[in-house]
Amino acid sequence: MSSTRISHDSVAGLRVGRWPLGPTTRSICYRAGHTLIDTGPPNQWKQVRHFVEEEHEAHGIERVVCTHHHEDHAGNAARIQKLLDVPVYAPESSLERLQEGFAMEWYRRVVWGTPPETEAEPLPEALPLGPGATLQAHAAPGHADDMVCLHVPERRWLFTADLFLAPRIEYLRFDEDVHALAESLHAMAQLPADVLFCGHQGVVETGSAALQEKARYLEALCGQVQRRYYREQQPLPDIQDDLLGREGTLRWLTGGDFSKKNLIAACVRRTDDSDDLPDMISAPTPMR
Ligand SMILES: [Zn+2]
Repeated sequence: MSSTRISHDSVAGLRVGRWPLGPTTRSICYRAGHTLIDTGPPNQWKQVRHFVEEEHEAHGIERVVCTHHHEDHAGNAARIQKLLDVPVYAPESSLERLQEGFAMEWYRRVVWGTPPETEAEPLPEALPLGPGATLQAHAAPGHADDMVCLHVPERRWLFTADLFLAPRIEYLRFDEDVHALAESLHAMAQLPADVLFCGHQGVVETGSAALQEKARYLEALCGQVQRRYYREQQPLPDIQDDLLGREGTLRWLTGGDFSKKNLIAACVRRTDDSDDLPDMISAPTPMR
C-alpha cells in the first residue's frame, strides 16, 4: 500500500498502513516544528524511516512524542530514537506498556505489526514547538486510558490522536469507554482550535466544531440506547439492529474487537458498574 503525504501550513504528515480496510487502519505521523508526533505502525517502518530522514534533513527533528501506547502510533518510536538519537516522550501511564509490551489481539499483529520495546520519558505538560509556539498535552481518555491530545494555542492547532476519527462512528473497540470519550470530546472542544490534525483522518478544517458534533452524536446515541434498554426493556441486539444495523466486515476481520455490538453495549455500561456488563458482551481473545 502506498503512503500519502499530508501538508498543512508548516505541518507535514505521512499516512501509512498496509490495508485501507476502514477509517482507522492507516495512521499518520506528523512533523510540527522540530517535533515528530506519533510514529506509525511497526510494519510500515521502511516508509516512515524515509519520511523521518527527509523531515530531519530539512527541519531537524529533536524529539518524538507518542500520544498513546497503541502500536499504530508508538510502533516506530524506538527505531526513530535509535536512528536520530533523540528523546521519546509519552504519557506517564503509557511508559510501562511501551517498555514491557501489552496484550494484543491477533489481527493487530497482522494489520500493524508488533512494536519493539520502547524506552520513553514522561511527557511534560508543555514542550517548545518552535518560535513563539508551545505543544501542550491534555489528557483525553476514552479511546485509550492513556491518550493525550496536543494543543498548540498560538497556532490554534489540536493534534487529536484517535479522539475524532469521524463525526459519527458505528463501531467501538471492546476496551473503549464511550462515556469517557464523549467527556474528552467536550473537554478538547473547549480548547481554541481552528484545525484538527487527526491521527487517521488527516487535517480537519472545521476544528473544535467537529469534536462537538461527535460528542453530541455519541450522547444522543447513548440516550436512545439507554431509554430503549432500561425503560422499554428492548434487548440489546434488537436495539443494535434498529439504530446501527447488522455487523459489517470489520467485526469479522477483528474477531469482534471492533463491533457495533460493543458500541451499543458501551452506551448502557455505566462507569461505576463496569463489572456488571450486559450478557451480550464477551471479550475478544488477546495474545501476548
Ligand atoms: Zn489508538
